[in-house]
Amino acid sequence: MLKHFSEDEFNHFDKMDKRFLEFLDDVRSLAGVAFVITSDYRTREDNQRVGGSATSAHLKGRAVDFVIRPWNGATYYGVIAAAVAVSSMPKWASHGMELKVAPTPNRHIHIAWDGWPQSSFIVG
Ligand SMILES: [Zn+2]
Repeated sequence: MLKHFSEDEFNHFDKMDKRFLEFLDDVRSLAGVAFVITSDYRTREDNQRVGGSATSAHLKGRAVDFVIRPWNGATYYGVIAAAVAVSSMPKWASHGMELKVAPTPNRHIHIAWDGWPQSSFIVG
């Protein structure tokens, strides 16, 4: 059961990795701002259409893209700090997290798991 998300906020809730969603829920708790999901599980066709990587974690239901409300420097930084802090918790530390942020032009944040041994943080 997720504290901050309902199934209808996802295009393909049933295809999402449930442990990943619990992790995302923990990040959302700590961040304290609204996450508006803009991309979750993708079919191969969806993924090609948006120019996603052929090995994208979106294909496995282990990635989401979202924007935050409200958006400002403090909330944006807060989400990044929350993602890093939560991914370091003993409960989640065995899952390498990929965090990609795009401050401009669309301010999207991408969080994913794909079995990486270490977390990575990419500003694009
Ligand atoms: Zn993504």
